[in-house]
Amino acid sequence: MTQVFNFSAGPAMMPKEVLQQAQAELLNWQEQQTSVMEVSHRGKLFMDLITQAEQDFRQLYYIPENYKILFLQGGARGQFAAIPMNLIGKKNKALYLTSGHWSATAAKEARLFCEIDEINILDQDPELKINRLDFSDIAEQYDYVHYCPNETISGVEIFDIPKVGNTTLVADMSSTILSRKIDISQFGIIYAGAQKNLGPAGITIVIVREDLIGNARQETPSIWNYAVQAKSDSMINTPPTFAWYLCSLVFKHLLKQGGLEGVEKCNQEKANLLYQYLDESSFYKNNVVKNNRSLMNVTFTTGNDELNAKFVAEATKAGLQALKGHKVLGGMRASIYNAMPIEGVQALIQFMKKFEAENN
Ligand SMILES: *Cc1c(COP(=O)(O)O)cnc(C)c1O
Repeated sequence: MTQVFNFSAGPAMMPKEVLQQAQAELLNWQEQQTSVMEVSHRGKLFMDLITQAEQDFRQLYYIPENYKILFLQGGARGQFAAIPMNLIGKKNKALYLTSGHWSATAAKEARLFCEIDEINILDQDPELKINRLDFSDIAEQYDYVHYCPNETISGVEIFDIPKVGNTTLVADMSSTILSRKIDISQFGIIYAGAQKNLGPAGITIVIVREDLIGNARQETPSIWNYAVQAKSDSMINTPPTFAWYLCSLVFKHLLKQGGLEGVEKCNQEKANLLYQYLDESSFYKNNVVKNNRSLMNVTFTTGNDELNAKFVAEATKAGLQALKGHKVLGGMRASIYNAMPIEGVQALIQFMKKFEAENN
């Protein structure tokens, strides 16, 4: 069997070691003669699991003491609504920095709850480029400022943190969380659906500074209320226990790999290899400026729709799966999250060279 590499943007590949461990203990978790998904979420063993998971995540991502970590449901999109419900206060207005699909979608959802100002910070011509990150002159008018550090669809990443003075900064980190070191203390809230870098779909992590908890609008449903969830260990209703368990295994796995330093180094190496090849090639093109090229989602095109379709079809046959770009953008996208080994990127480049030679 040829080795298969899965470049899916999400749900994305999981570390093989994690899947193997889950398989090995599926029928008999912790000597219970039952699986982890069949035990009470309030039992001691599961409570121990979530305590350890939180501790590991805190250690991995260097999360300061004054932040709570919530494990919720509803995906990143659920947080698009939960953020305004929990953060809108006296100013009744928030600023959304838009740089692509996800930041714009977050802004649209937030409009259901309060007044929103939107600033587009993406230049598109001739290449995708972030043009502004200092908002300290206007941020004071807003209850919070929201942005998306990694636009998963276009492959645009924002490495510097926007300047917003003392205003709360909120970030949708769904496709960049745990991929590189960041200074958590710059943020009021960081949230991420798990299905890219943390585990399977169905669980969402919210890292929230403690002073931002407890100000939700009165009609906020309890599952979206950070104060309620923080007080009940993220268990105001039955949590997605199996997804939580898989995330706990991913955290242990990353710690074993040398923690965030090891992970970041590997991600840099993978992305550098691929972008370097793209820059050398006159056949493929990536249209993001160097400073905003995503470490996680690498977009490229041959510039010809038919050739792109042929590329995706032949790559699939060669064991390189899910390289088709998002439908709003076309072309190709290689998502190379934490779980993608460097061998996968090397195999992709090798295939790209061969395809180029045959179709140039
Ligand atoms: C995948 C993704 C989402 C959507 O996540 P859901 O969990 O499906 O709601 C939102 N934002 C970003 C940046 C994403 O990559």
